[in-house]
Amino acid sequence: YIVEELALCQEADGTGLISGIPRGKAIFQEVKEGKIYSQGFDLNGGWVPLYTMHKVFAGLRDAYLHTDNEKALAVETKLGLWLEDMVKDLSEEQMDELLKCEFGGMAEVLADLAVHTGEMRFFALSERFYHKEVLDPLADKKDALAGKHANTQIPKVVAAARQYEISGNETYKEISEYFWNTVVHEHSYVIGGNSLNEHFGEAGKQNDRLGENTCETCNSYNMLKLTKHLFRWKPTAEEGDYYERALYNHILASQHPGDGSVCYFVSLDMGGHKKYNSKFDSFTCCVGSGMENHASHGNAIYFHDESKLYINQYISSRLEWKEMGVVVEQKTAYPKNGRIRIEIAASA
Ligand SMILES: [Zn+2]
Repeated sequence: YIVEELALCQEADGTGLISGIPRGKAIFQEVKEGKIYSQGFDLNGGWVPLYTMHKVFAGLRDAYLHTDNEKALAVETKLGLWLEDMVKDLSEEQMDELLKCEFGGMAEVLADLAVHTGEMRFFALSERFYHKEVLDPLADKKDALAGKHANTQIPKVVAAARQYEISGNETYKEISEYFWNTVVHEHSYVIGGNSLNEHFGEAGKQNDRLGENTCETCNSYNMLKLTKHLFRWKPTAEEGDYYERALYNHILASQHPGDGSVCYFVSLDMGGHKKYNSKFDSFTCCVGSGMENHASHGNAIYFHDESKLYINQYISSRLEWKEMGVVVEQKTAYPKNGRIRIEIAASA
């Protein structure tokens, strides 16, 4: 339904743009003409327009990926062409200015779009969203994260992971692995989350940074995404352990057990408490990613290569490994107790 409605909006506009952003058309026209100003979260006076637009791309991609909706891919492709046109005449300096404003996982969805359409022009477009200021130090294995807005940066690294998978460019791999190690070991709290008041602090000093607004939930949503990429390249118990830690202690803990509402921050403040979004009046980024979080518990239980199956999480589940003719059933009440029963059968 949403794909159909977005297609109507796109047709009505006629340029490929889909935008529910106040003053969106005017902002994007200014950007196209090279008039760009931002202080981090505003772009020409609008609130994170490209971050919002990334969500539209991602929704269309997922509709295509998970439900084979060809129209979603067609709409996404037109939007991609519109974006390509908007930035085509911008110099590198103007792109640097544009990328100062939070733009979410734009580079990731464009890399995916290149694969889904077979059009490498979208991969080239994705690489224009390489944010030098943040990614170059990571490529040099320097931790310059202190003071930076945390969740603005994590999707840029998820994008680098995807770009490595597509291009084989080792720099993207090094960025991904260095960032993962640094955030997990130097910037994460005991529940696997990171950030205070949405920002990274000094490495290894989480003890001095406890408060009501620790651990924005989106950040763990994105760190789990990154962990899945790394695990696919070279599965390690360390990555599996981090995934479990953040999934159980942050993601599961961020949802109200009764009504399903979710937390923006999970407080680690002494005597602190959780605040959940209300049903109709309080929506944050973490409500959006929170809807995905709790529909994604089955995402990283099993991995496989040609010959081996990895059981990455202890979660009751049933796996049909069709190529191998094997059915695996996992029964557990973990973490209530440590018992896990795994039944393996040949499929009929
Ligand atoms: Zn958030």
